[in-house]
Amino acid sequence: MFKAILIEKDEQGYRAALKDVDDAQLPAGPEANVTVKVAASTLNYKDGLAITGKSPVVRKFPMVPGIDLAGTVESSSHPDWQPGDRVVLNGWGVGETHWGGLAEKARLNGDWLVPLPAAFTPEQAMAIGTAGYTVMLCVLALERHGVKPEHGEIVVTGAAGGVGSVAVALLAKLGYTVAAVTGRAAEADYLKSLGAATVLERSEFNQPGKPLAKERWAGAVDTVGSHTLANVCAQTKYGGVVTACGLAGGMDLPASVAPFILRGVTLAGIDSVMRPKADRLEAWRRLAIDLDLTKLGLITREITLAEAIAATQQLLDGQVRGRVVVRVS
Ligand code: NDP
Repeated sequence: MFKAILIEKDEQGYRAALKDVDDAQLPAGPEANVTVKVAASTLNYKDGLAITGKSPVVRKFPMVPGIDLAGTVESSSHPDWQPGDRVVLNGWGVGETHWGGLAEKARLNGDWLVPLPAAFTPEQAMAIGTAGYTVMLCVLALERHGVKPEHGEIVVTGAAGGVGSVAVALLAKLGYTVAAVTGRAAEADYLKSLGAATVLERSEFNQPGKPLAKERWAGAVDTVGSHTLANVCAQTKYGGVVTACGLAGGMDLPASVAPFILRGVTLAGIDSVMRPKADRLEAWRRLAIDLDLTKLGLITREITLAEAIAATQQLLDGQVRGRVVVRVS
């Protein structure tokens, strides 16, 4: 038996609870060839949606949520993995269509796993988590499109959240000047301690704006979407790059084409879930080099598996600062 958060949906309704689960219930079949003893997982925005049922993230029941995990291989019939290997997993529909990381054990497809970089403990890897891995994909996109620190400021929206906090810390470490946008003025000192040069009010961004505004940003990491993303695009300098990875403020994009056709702005969509393995390896390699681990401590709060369900509503209410690591075993 092992402990897991189990989401069930039946005539009694949609519910999540910490349960004892039999090993025999672990996923079977071709996408379940490596059993991992989970050391740590995290709470991401998507996990919040899954656990509360606020959005139809979970598409099979019962489901163990948790879109990422770090741990050690217990047994494997996959040629790449042996018992004792340290692994990390992000995405691939885990925690949505395949049992995920908010459990003491997971049985996964070995093709989805990447080696846990030697630079990190499992808890540090999960402090980074899908949030940090996604930020690195944003940074790689900025670099690929030629955005350099000397080109000007990079704006990060939803800055006090998980993705936003890692984005501020990582971009600052790489020498970029970071403008952090937050709805929580009380977090200004926190964002400055992560490396933000300026902290701006969310209300300057989340209302309908002009198709083109004064040029301010060389690049952007947007976790919010909707009017915020539209305004960031409208404020981006000639030739600048906006990476869009989130929808914390809405899924719509009430924008015009003006920034793209008059200023050559690039809107780069960032998906971490189905990203090919080579990109994942590169992102984790760069995180091991480029992230200041002392900043991770400022970003992270640790909770237990038993505390995870209660923490999810706080996360969806935008009350959680930075990252939440779930220490599993
Ligand atoms: P968090 O909940 O930790 O952070 C989201 C932040 O967005 C909040 O802290 C808040 O920041 C801001 N925010 C919340 N509600 C609103 C609102 N109504 N209007 C404007 N800003 C708001 O979530 P994560 O950082 O884990 O994820 C952020 C987004 O990125 C989510 O939409 C998530 O689904 C997405 N994501 C996408 C991935 C991908 O592969 N593309 C991977 C990982 C995440 P503040 O208080 O500072 O304003």
